[in-house]
Amino acid sequence: MAPFLRYTLIIALLLTTILASAEAKTGTTKVVTTLPVLQDYVNQIGRQHVTVTSLISGLENSHSYALKPSDILAVRQADIFITIGAGLEGWAEQLVQNAQNPSLEVVVTSKGISLLRDSGVTHATEGTHVHGNPHIWLDPENAKSMVRQITTRLIKVDRDNRHDYLANQAEYLRTLDTLQADMKRRVKMLPDRRFISHHPAWPYFARRFGFKIVGNIIEQPGAEPSAKHLSTLTQRMKRAGIKVIVSEPQLNQKIPRILADETGARVVTLTALPGALPGTNTYTDMLLFNVSTLIETLNP
Ligand SMILES: [Zn+2]
Repeated sequence: MAPFLRYTLIIALLLTTILASAEAKTGTTKVVTTLPVLQDYVNQIGRQHVTVTSLISGLENSHSYALKPSDILAVRQADIFITIGAGLEGWAEQLVQNAQNPSLEVVVTSKGISLLRDSGVTHATEGTHVHGNPHIWLDPENAKSMVRQITTRLIKVDRDNRHDYLANQAEYLRTLDTLQADMKRRVKMLPDRRFISHHPAWPYFARRFGFKIVGNIIEQPGAEPSAKHLSTLTQRMKRAGIKVIVSEPQLNQKIPRILADETGARVVTLTALPGALPGTNTYTDMLLFNVSTLIETLNP
């Protein structure tokens, strides 16, 4: 055998051994999620029994994400793949097909949750809000339903640890209930709970906590707002005395700033994805940050 071929063979054998031992050592259920919010739910329920990666980071835009070759590899090696659905990840179906992983469990967490419709959306393309608003997780009641679906699937794949999953779920659902009740109480005391949002990420959040969304800068994700829409929005803000514009770190801040200059409103940056701003690493931290920041801005 030529020396080159022999070395190649030895290296290949070594790599196989290393990979096999890494696999045996972890022994955890491998989960891939589309969004960091789903990654956090899996970590809360699975803890030491799971290894979770999110394809999209907190600073990326979930509407305009472009798939990477490493995403296909990650899903090919995963036990469970978790998405929001509702048209948010228009590329997920293709990804699952290309991954060719027959034992993969796919969880679509929006299943069973009734979607809100955005007002003003006339035309829509895949990956936007065509099936209704996909930002369901910003209501902790929806989060509870999503978490239950994740727990069920973890138990299906790893029945041995079901008692841990159920105990972790019970604890996490209690945390969500307590947090929700506290935040609702705080919002209730505000005299003015109205705001304009940059992109319509907040209808579920507003409905749960008692905020009122008076309009959106972007009505169709991915499309620039028209001059006519912006002028109508400016008039409405001035007439109603709207003092707050909610933007997101994943979006261009230019238009919110122009609108704020014209109306005297303040721009506040909240995040729909954990990890995009300091102090928002988990779902509960993110909810607390969003509600507290909004309260401070509405009631300076
Ligand atoms: Zn959106």
